[in-house]
Amino acid sequence: MSATFEKSMEEMSRLSPKERDAKIKELDKLCICPRCPTYIGTGEKMITFCARGKSKIIKNEKGCLCPTCPVQSRLGLRWMYYCTKGSGMEQAGMK
Ligand code: SF4
Ligand code: SF4
Repeated sequence: MSATFEKSMEEMSRLSPKERDAKIKELDKLCICPRCPTYIGTGEKMITFCARGKSKIIKNEKGCLCPTCPVQSRLGLRWMYYCTKGSGMEQAGMK
């Protein structure tokens, strides 16, 4: 069975803040936001918005690569535009 987002978050919630940080840094290696038309040219440096939450810089949605990102399936994410709409937790109404 594929991971559900709720289950992934339950597992994440058992990690210490330090372990959670390390986990997000691992996801950074897989995040494809830097190749996204919404991201390119904005000057944004942050990535992995699905875990970190909205960008303070990105405002204009020009397409989203999240549905093809390996992090999406790894965490059971099912949303898009995390940079403008908020993290998976936020879009799931869990936060
Ligand atoms: S799902 Fe989107 S925001 Fe999350 S790591 Fe992948 S490309 Fe980045
Ligand atoms: S969250 Fe989606 S729209 Fe935003 S930069 Fe990443 S891939 Fe692009």
